[in-house]
Amino acid sequence: MERSTATENILPMTSIRSGSGTEIAPDVYCYTVQVANVFFIGNPNISNEWVLVDAGMPRSAKKILKAAENRFGPDHQLKAIILTHGHFDHVGGLIDILEQHKVPVYAHPLEFSYLKGITDYPEPDTSVEGGMVAKMSKIFPTQAIDITAHIHELPSDGSVPEMAGWKWIHTPGHSDGHISLFREQGRILIAGDAFVTVKQDSLYKVLRQKKEIHGPPVYLTTNWRAAWESVCKLADLQPSIAATGHGKPMTGALLAKGLVDLAENFQTTAVPAYGKYVHTK
Ligand SMILES: [Zn+2]
Ligand SMILES: [Zn+2]
Repeated sequence: MERSTATENILPMTSIRSGSGTEIAPDVYCYTVQVANVFFIGNPNISNEWVLVDAGMPRSAKKILKAAENRFGPDHQLKAIILTHGHFDHVGGLIDILEQHKVPVYAHPLEFSYLKGITDYPEPDTSVEGGMVAKMSKIFPTQAIDITAHIHELPSDGSVPEMAGWKWIHTPGHSDGHISLFREQGRILIAGDAFVTVKQDSLYKVLRQKKEIHGPPVYLTTNWRAAWESVCKLADLQPSIAATGHGKPMTGALLAKGLVDLAENFQTTAVPAYGKYVHTK
């Protein structure tokens, strides 16, 4: 209850930097491995049980589990993993984590083909307008992983397993089964790659991590019309804090204005001028 006050005041107070993590609420911890964020849901002062949202870049399992140990103690108990979508930079540590922690993984069924080893990701569009990272994207892995034994559909009532008070929202566009997570208490949004808080197509800005709101990473987004509708849906939620798959968490006026600007000017600011998935309509 006390936490639902203007969250722009909460962030500086509870923002604790340890290694490359930021506590954005007592029970929401954003941990960055290389350039991708994962989230630990659970309050270490209350319980050693936690939920992982997304699983980072390839080979990041060790770092994620070490950070979890630091936060929840050596006998921490991972209860479930929730995926915003199935791209390689959000499932990279998954197989190694599941080897040690046999927990259910929840995702939208439209991502299942990437998670059951059925179809590879769409080829990243290296021709898309957007500079350096788009050009580098051809070295990104595109092969689907197979975690059939662990994967489950998110409940159709919008609830999120093991995450009381949270709702999942279908936010397609960047990928067909992309979801975002929102909690009314504190108005906290975890938006995956539906939008991001760092300009992914500028290597300089990725390294510098300058905070600004941008549309989804261009080289993997396959449906720009749906991506726009998803951004509008998320802007309508009027989150007080938003944390995305890439970039630093944002809060307050910078977030509110940035999100409304993005929704209003999506066609000109987010959709690239050219690219194989860009059909201007
Ligand atoms: Zn993605
Ligand atoms: Zn991503």
